[in-house]
Amino acid sequence: MRITVQYLAQIRRAVGCAEEILDVPDGSLADLVRHLAVKHPDAARLFLGPTGEPSRSLLFFVNDAPFDAAAKLPANAIVTILTPMAGGSSVPLSEEERATYEWQMWVPHFGEEGQRKLKAATVLVSRIGGVGGALAQQLAAAGVGKLILAHAGNVRASDLNRQTLMSHAGLGQPRLGQAARRLRELNPRLEIEEIPENISPDNARQLVAQADVVASCAPLFSERLALNAAAVALGKPLVDCAMYDFDVQILTVIPGGPCLQCLYPEPPAAWKREFPVFGAVAATAGCLGAVEVIKTLSGIGERLDRQMLLADLGSMIFRKLPRSRDPQCRVCSTSPMSD
Ligand SMILES: [Zn+2]
Repeated sequence: MRITVQYLAQIRRAVGCAEEILDVPDGSLADLVRHLAVKHPDAARLFLGPTGEPSRSLLFFVNDAPFDAAAKLPANAIVTILTPMAGGSSVPLSEEERATYEWQMWVPHFGEEGQRKLKAATVLVSRIGGVGGALAQQLAAAGVGKLILAHAGNVRASDLNRQTLMSHAGLGQPRLGQAARRLRELNPRLEIEEIPENISPDNARQLVAQADVVASCAPLFSERLALNAAAVALGKPLVDCAMYDFDVQILTVIPGGPCLQCLYPEPPAAWKREFPVFGAVAATAGCLGAVEVIKTLSGIGERLDRQMLLADLGSMIFRKLPRSRDPQCRVCSTSPMSD
């Protein structure tokens, strides 16, 4: 069928033309967008999100009206694609940024395109203690554009064996301000939004909606499951980082795949708020989670989206176990399967 595609705003510059007429097989708007990503490889990062679906940072209209990406396109449709005006995903790198990130841009398949994706991205980090602080620090160093940090409370003496964004001088002071200051010292280009609250069913959805990827680093199942429910409902990838004693567990939830609630239909009853932890083990969990976030944002590597990594740092045994979707899961069973 014949389709007219109009490009507005930054997507027009990325594609290099304002309009083109295409003969494409019958299909949905999403099929057309995937076709466009192949046809214009330099603009593919703008067309597609981390899961290969039409990017949520673009606006799509068909015959001047909003249109469901999964619905079949009418013949002779005029499809208009534009980047939102309040920001956008075309983010060139400055010379200073090229110099800062040069060594990671040497990673095969990452390159400058991967760096631009990190710069354009917003990551929500639930808690910035031993796990989330290490994750946030690595994302700040890697050049993620914006971090939304959610954590309530003040620094206690018993935090300082692992919460390395904090300081002895900051005992009794709010964690968030100290963490944000340390992260800005490392990377002054980083935008930080400070949310002095822990994640709950009341705030999860509103915070997740602002993020491209969610990092779940809270020790409490109630917070992790609330974040998971919001991420699944809004179709956002989520990286869950957990640890206890010498054990680390990392997994990634992508839209359509098994979620955290599939693994934990009910919060385990025996879980305690206080637990044995070395800072080095918590930071390992955070760094492994940061790698999953970077891969998810840049589209490189293999993620833990149908597996979970279990690392026993007491014996240095790392292994992966498969995860599958629970058809009865009350969180994800109503969303479409990805396979
Ligand atoms: Zn589920």
